[in-house]
This record gives sequence, structure tokens and C-alpha cells, in this order.
Amino acid sequence: MKKEIGEGIFKLVLRCLFLAFGTLHLAAWCAASAGTTTFHDNSEAIIGRVSTDEKVVALTFDDGPGTKYTPRILDLLSQYQAKATFFVVGWRVENYPDLILREDSDGHELGNHTFTHFNYRKMSTEQLIEEINKTQEAIFRVTGKRPIFFRPPGGYLSTSVKAAAMKEHLRIVNWSWDQETRDWSKPGVQNIVNKVLKNVHPGDIILFHDQSRGTFQTVQALKEILPGLMEKGYRCVTVSELLTYEKNRQNRSDMKWGTIDGERTMNYLVVVRLLFRSNL
Ligand SMILES: [Zn+2]
Repeated sequence: MKKEIGEGIFKLVLRCLFLAFGTLHLAAWCAASAGTTTFHDNSEAIIGRVSTDEKVVALTFDDGPGTKYTPRILDLLSQYQAKATFFVVGWRVENYPDLILREDSDGHELGNHTFTHFNYRKMSTEQLIEEINKTQEAIFRVTGKRPIFFRPPGGYLSTSVKAAAMKEHLRIVNWSWDQETRDWSKPGVQNIVNKVLKNVHPGDIILFHDQSRGTFQTVQALKEILPGLMEKGYRCVTVSELLTYEKNRQNRSDMKWGTIDGERTMNYLVVVRLLFRSNL
């Protein structure tokens, strides 16, 4: 017992130290580069939320399609006349073309989520380009359309990821930081519902998974989220449609690629998330 308490305190101290040093480091960097950062050019920006007063949000589903839950999610979306964006994995597109066809014919949007859901740390820019390219072609063979959005696995951003996406003319779409449901981790249906309904803002991009070990909770949660959003007056639209509601180009969640503090901030947030999620 004593040993567990000791370990707990040790982990907490380590996390706090990381947070303190990381935040100071980041603040110093931002201060040093003040005036050089631009958040105004959306053509190269990571899309995380759209600035709008319209009550519209984009539901996004990653890692599918999968035979078990994707059809149930599609049924729910059509029941509530909601449109979504599916960030699909290339090899699954090849294995389950009927689900891709249904996503497309139901009026949803398809985004590229790599071919193998790669381990980005081990891949060169060339390999990333191949991953993206193979997925684009797989989707094109089924639907006759090529996606315009790319979401890297885990939302991870690096110079290589950026270069690969730009080479393939894809815009990177992540999600609103207060709309990360963590549904894959089985947080409980009510927690997923609350995360979305209590934090929702116009222009949010909400993250779900239609293929993960927690997706049965996602399906249950959607049964409350979809009518809940309707009750609040929200419409669920594709990412492409969401962008048409953007009221100005100073999107507060967007960070321009090529500015080191933008990349640092995003990656810092990813590390903080992992740190507090893991057992260290
Ligand atoms: Zn993923």
C-alpha cells in the first residue's frame, strides 16, 4: 500500500515537472518568435474547428470501415438526417468496398487516414506519401472520388506528415480539443455523451471511432448525442460543408504549418495527452 502511494506521488511529481518545464519552454519559444507566427492562412493550416456563429458541427469517425459497427452508425446518422466525415483506412477500403459505397451514397464525406494506420515514427516522407497515395487510389476505385482531407493517425503532426499531405494536395483535419471523446478507450457511454453535449460550440469538429475496441459505446452514445444536438438546434454536416460556414479566416484552432511554434504546440498537446493517459 505504502509502495503504491509512493509510486503514485512519484508519477504525479514527474507529470507536473513535465508540464511545468514543457509549458515554460513553449511560452519562451512563443515569446521569442512573437510576430513571426501567422494564424491567418488557412490554405496551409490544420483544421481543428471552424469559426462560425451558425449552429453546425462536423461529426468525424476514424479507423473504419468495420463490418460490426459502421452499418449501425450509418443507420443512426440517416435516422437523424446527420451527415458525417469518415476518415478511412486504405486496406479496409479494399476489404469492405460496400461500406465505403454506402458512406458515399448516404451523402457522407470520406477522408484519408493512411493505408495501414502506420507507425509514423518509423516512416519517411516517401513512405507516408505512399500510404496516402494508396488510400486515395483505393477510395477512388470504389467511389470515383478522391478525398481532399487527411487525418494522420493519432492526430500526430510532423514536418514529414505535413510534407506528405501537401504533396498529395490534402488539407489536414484534426478535431476540436474539447471534443476528443476518447471513445476508443471505453470511457463509458455517459462520459462520451457529456463530453459532446456539454462542450459543443458552433463549428466544432467532433472525434469518434467507428472501428475500435470501444465503438459499442460510441453507438450507444450516438443514440443520445444525435437527438441531443438536434434539440440544441445543431445540424451535423460534413467537414467540407462546415468550412463553407467559416466567418473569417482567423480560425482560433488553426496553426499555420511551417511556423515552428505551431507545430511545437500541437505536438506538445499530443505528448501531454499521452502522458496523462498512460501509466507512465
Ligand atoms: Zn486512427
